[in-house]
Amino acid sequence: MAMKEIVVGTAISKAAGRKKGSLRIGTLPDGSPMEIPVVIVRGSKPGPVLWLHGCVHGNEYCGTFIIHEMLSRLRPAALTGTVVALPALNITAFQKGQRMSPFEGFAGGDLNRNFPGDATGTLTQQMAYAIYKPLKRHATHLVDFHTAMTEDVAWALYADVGGKTGKESEKMARAFGYRSTLPAPPTILGGSALMTAAKDGIPAMIVECGGKGPAFTQEAMRDGADRLENILRALGMVKGAVVDHGKLNYFSNFAWVHATKGGLFQRSVRCGDRIEPGSVLGQYYDLHGRPNGEALAPKGGIVLAIHPGPMIGSGETLIHIGLDPREV
Ligand SMILES: [Zn+2]
Repeated sequence: MAMKEIVVGTAISKAAGRKKGSLRIGTLPDGSPMEIPVVIVRGSKPGPVLWLHGCVHGNEYCGTFIIHEMLSRLRPAALTGTVVALPALNITAFQKGQRMSPFEGFAGGDLNRNFPGDATGTLTQQMAYAIYKPLKRHATHLVDFHTAMTEDVAWALYADVGGKTGKESEKMARAFGYRSTLPAPPTILGGSALMTAAKDGIPAMIVECGGKGPAFTQEAMRDGADRLENILRALGMVKGAVVDHGKLNYFSNFAWVHATKGGLFQRSVRCGDRIEPGSVLGQYYDLHGRPNGEALAPKGGIVLAIHPGPMIGSGETLIHIGLDPREV
């Protein structure tokens, strides 16, 4: 029986094997196409279509490397189902090493708040539309890669939307197995690929791994690829025993805390640390080298991300806290 065609831009898969191509997501001011890379690895047996994407935020490269590391380990002959990978979504932001596209002239240029997109909307909405259309058509599962400020970032979210989709999303998060995990309620992260897909019945999770720009380590990248492979085992796409990561710390939600002063900053906590209200997060100094007060935690929880210093200005993200951790 002929296999159902999977088409993502110029990557067209009709049989087992590896196909590469590109997806057009917009047009640059000089008229040239804005295109992103697509890799399809198709197994010999039908099964799930696992959609992986990275660099929704252009400077969050670690996921791109995790995706490539995992793809390099895949053999189509030993694969059930298909992996569709788009390792660098927000290509013009990626080129500039920044979160959002430099060509987005209006507010709301966060690609992860603009799904499912709009074919006649802003640049970011048009990008989201071009990406989400084939995602919705083909994907049965989604893993979206992000990260934050430092190399020790390691946490995950899954779409806690109830029903079969919620259960399957949790299964992926448990197979990935980061100890810090947020079962994300459908009321948060509107316009994210995660919630948009989950509301369309596609189980979804976000991985936050490794640090912005080149901050990530080879260990974080390889560990991420190992955990991603475990998702493929849990979904029955590759053979082998599923690694049981044991109990995880689930949060009720998260909180962003912004710096209210500026200067030199030295953090004193690491990602994954448990903090209480009033815990010392770091020390401010002025440019004469004099201590200028401590940054204190307004809430308790688990440190998901912390400003790496050495310079911080008011309004910058000081810390991202996972609230009410409980072992599940
Ligand atoms: Zn991100």
